[in-house]
Amino acid sequence: MKLAHGLALNSHPSGRHFLQIPGPTNVPDRILRAMDYPTIDHRGPEFQRLGKSVLGGIRQIFATTGPVVIYPASGTGAWEAALVNTLSPGDTVLMCETGQFATLWRRLAQRLGLVVEFIAGDWRHGVDPKAVEQALRADSAKRIKALCVVHNETSTGVTSRIDEVRAAIDRAGHPALFMVDTISSLGSIDYRHDEWGVDVTVAGSQKGLMLPPGLSFNAISAKALEASKTATMPRSYWDWNDMLGANENGFFPYTPATNLLYGLHEAIAMLLEQGLENVFARHLRHAEATRAAAQAWGLEILCAEPREYSPALTTIIMPEGHNADAFRKIAQERFNMSLGQGLGKVAGKVFRIGHLGDFNDLMLLGTLGGVEMSLACGGVPHQAGGVQAAMAVLAR
Ligand SMILES: *Cc1c(COP(=O)(O)O)cnc(C)c1O
Repeated sequence: MKLAHGLALNSHPSGRHFLQIPGPTNVPDRILRAMDYPTIDHRGPEFQRLGKSVLGGIRQIFATTGPVVIYPASGTGAWEAALVNTLSPGDTVLMCETGQFATLWRRLAQRLGLVVEFIAGDWRHGVDPKAVEQALRADSAKRIKALCVVHNETSTGVTSRIDEVRAAIDRAGHPALFMVDTISSLGSIDYRHDEWGVDVTVAGSQKGLMLPPGLSFNAISAKALEASKTATMPRSYWDWNDMLGANENGFFPYTPATNLLYGLHEAIAMLLEQGLENVFARHLRHAEATRAAAQAWGLEILCAEPREYSPALTTIIMPEGHNADAFRKIAQERFNMSLGQGLGKVAGKVFRIGHLGDFNDLMLLGTLGGVEMSLACGGVPHQAGGVQAAMAVLAR
């Protein structure tokens, strides 16, 4: 298939591309159809109904009764929004090195003029609640204004225990704001903004929400909103205040991504129809089947802590002397399947299988079949039988 601008969409003439990177994910036909409508007047009554519906409905996905703002931006924009709305130049924030995305959020904070205290990590574990407690207890002057963590570290396939991190903050009795990046967990892994006492939740459209890239979110607690009134970081496009004022009536302060909002409306409906609990259970099951395959292949999973295995993706370590990107190239060229590349310090050493979003058992078996065949084609040492092992889990 050729796109209008002449780029070959994929080199295979038939069938569907397997987009098994951990975001963007496969966009279901129902969402594609929902977006295929004329763009409407974003100041008119029809838009107002849409705006009210998505701004209300999205709260259920974050498990919050508070406001959620929606930006026409990638997830990175919502990272920036969380910081500039609540902090002042020179403030200290505490972050945890879970992997590449945590490292990028740190860089963004530093570029904004914040001082980052970074708890070092080995990219195989999630946030250590004890280390957080210790760092907060050591901060007797209360210089730390926010703790920022990544819920599902998409570069490693490790999911941090946000409820336990919250408990650690409470044990330390520290007043820091709690900010959580759920860009690759919202809509695929259990997450509770209100119950877990999160102040700002950051999310994006193109992963668990099954939408194309282009929307991002901040769910905002009353404490975060209060902090925004005295925070002095320069902000304009990201200003919550402008957003919240217009959102009250279902509108936006500038042109919203109208057609993506049609899609969001459909995505919310689909998630609620399936039931969030069922969606989370499906992701857990697919992750378990994927790990069974990896174990049968004799390949090691990057996540070193079983209770932190990601339900959304699995990161597999390549055997010594084999390059993950060469392997991914085989999957791409022979089987028309995209797998996630290693990012940052694990580039070339690992590959990632995304199993989040609009996904089912047979899509997973196709994916794992493609991986197993690519291992064979690439001469990567492994045992056969991974797909069989996954089938045994799925047929249980
Ligand atoms: C994808 C991702 C990001 C980056 O989001 P963009 O939409 O690419 O800006 C940040 N954090 C996590 C955890 C992600 O998975």
